[in-house]
Amino acid sequence: MKKKVLFITGSGHCGSTLLTLMLGSHPDCFGLGELNSLPNHYKTNIPICGVCKEKCSFWDELNPKELKLLAAVLGNSRLNKYIPLKLEKTMRKILRQDQVFNPYTYLFSLRKENVFVDASKAVEWINQRLDAQEFTSGNLESYLIHLVRDGRAVLSSYLRRFKSLTAESYAQEWREKTILKNQLYDKFPAERKMLIRYEELATAPEKILTRVCNLLGIEFTSQMIPYWQYDHHVISGNSGVRSLIWRSKQEEVEADVRKYQGEYYNNQGLKIKLDLRWKKELSEEQVAVFNDIAGDINKPYEWNQD
Ligand SMILES: [Zn+2]
Repeated sequence: MKKKVLFITGSGHCGSTLLTLMLGSHPDCFGLGELNSLPNHYKTNIPICGVCKEKCSFWDELNPKELKLLAAVLGNSRLNKYIPLKLEKTMRKILRQDQVFNPYTYLFSLRKENVFVDASKAVEWINQRLDAQEFTSGNLESYLIHLVRDGRAVLSSYLRRFKSLTAESYAQEWREKTILKNQLYDKFPAERKMLIRYEELATAPEKILTRVCNLLGIEFTSQMIPYWQYDHHVISGNSGVRSLIWRSKQEEVEADVRKYQGEYYNNQGLKIKLDLRWKKELSEEQVAVFNDIAGDINKPYEWNQD
């Protein structure tokens, strides 16, 4: 089977960590998580793995030279500090040296799985990756999931996390970014893409995951739903969703989870639960502001049932 990279696009807080961990629980899938944060984690010495509390059996085992190269290539930073990046990239293309280090191909060489899940989500990131030789040559196959969630729920989640944000500024940002994500999705080949609603994934995970598995040419297994029972090494992502893994192993839960989510994830227990907190958290005025700015784009994504 040809190696496949599934890119997830969508807004922040759209459920991509949940989807990545569920897919990553399949024996033939490995969840990379938000690979676009790897360069920054590397530079600032933040642990790359967002799950392992101690030494990570995957990311911390990478050859230091190769990890450095991986961070440089993914971070679009120079490999040679004396040559400007733009020139270096042109030269690498002319000399076909971008064949020398292909990030996903390299990572596949270290794993037994045939499918990677990249939850970076940003349109620019996905376009840059698809432009690389490993995809344009057809060596790797790309897939795209547009994961959508009712924008009002996303707004509520952002306001909870970022206290200085206003409904107006976020609605504007959500609108602009969602339009770009829709464009990316529209131009992607039909046979390799799928639109998923977070609310359906959370309420009917077996049905939705079966559809994703069919897209990827792998078989659905029920182990994908209780994702907290399996090993994961995702980069970044929602700490509340990751906290189920720590709790199932009786490990300490990151302070972040309580700070931003209160007791929500603690009370959830070890199960998947549709998060509709926005219905209680957003004021009527905030909903009105959001609808004014982004209501038209959000219409197909509205989830009005409980
Ligand atoms: Zn790890």
